[in-house]
Amino acid sequence: MPATTPPTTPADPTARAPRSVLVTGANRGIGRAIAERFLAEGDRVATIVRSGGSPEGVLEVIGDVRDTASVDAAFAQVEAAHGPVEVLVANAGVTRDGLLMRMTDEDFADVLDVNLTGAFRVVRRASTGMIRLRRGRVVLISSVVGMYGSPGQVNYASSKAALVGMARSITRELGGRGITANVVAPGFIDTDMTKALPEDRQQAYLGSIPAGRFGHADEVAAAVQFLASDAAAYVSGAVLPVDGGLGMGH
Ligand code: NAP
Repeated sequence: MPATTPPTTPADPTARAPRSVLVTGANRGIGRAIAERFLAEGDRVATIVRSGGSPEGVLEVIGDVRDTASVDAAFAQVEAAHGPVEVLVANAGVTRDGLLMRMTDEDFADVLDVNLTGAFRVVRRASTGMIRLRRGRVVLISSVVGMYGSPGQVNYASSKAALVGMARSITRELGGRGITANVVAPGFIDTDMTKALPEDRQQAYLGSIPAGRFGHADEVAAAVQFLASDAAAYVSGAVLPVDGGLGMGH
């Protein structure tokens, strides 16, 4: 019998190798939607969270972005399982709202420790591997209020505005090494964080959103996915709003 050549499946020209993706805070809300998008693309997705409940298929490492040793230990675990982190999404964030006059040092420092220093800790740790690979994508999840301002959120808005300076400094420092750093600035997205806002604040926001509705976590995830894609290789230091027009010009 003549030898037959086994049928070959033609290579899918759109297929690419799975990447090692780390999304902080992927057990709920926006982080969860981002993790699910990368999973659907076939990437290897990991997260660092304080409590559990991340989507199936995500490598969940219990840790705290406020603690450098915890971040380092989590990265070691992620790298051992998935390889060096190629896409980092600094998403973990908290609010502790209060009027300026009554805001304590702790209210201010604690919010900055998670939202700003926490992002710094994970980006610093990820940068080592990205520099070695000569490629990497950093996406920092900011907020419309970082540029727009918000009464009762001096701590939160300050932490989110600072992420723009962080992304742009990373861009200037590492842009020549195939690494991009961008900011996504969501508006009012329907998650646990916004459900905690008083009803009158929610209605006030709704009245000023040109789209006339709150956003979905997956709409933020789509913007993150774009910034992490090959199509966005030449986009760095940008602030991409996903806010239904709420913050235009800010
Ligand atoms: P969320 O539902 O409250 O989730 C926050 C996430 O951050 C959780 O996964 C939480 O996990 C994690 N986290 C908090 N502190 C952490 C820490 N110290 N270490 C590790 N993980 C920590 O919030 P969300 O609405 O999805 O918001 C996600 C991001 O988008 C935040 O940065 C937020 O500021 C930003 N954002 C949200 C909106 C909105 O309308 N929702 C608008 C603009 C920007 P554990 O609690 O398990 O630790």
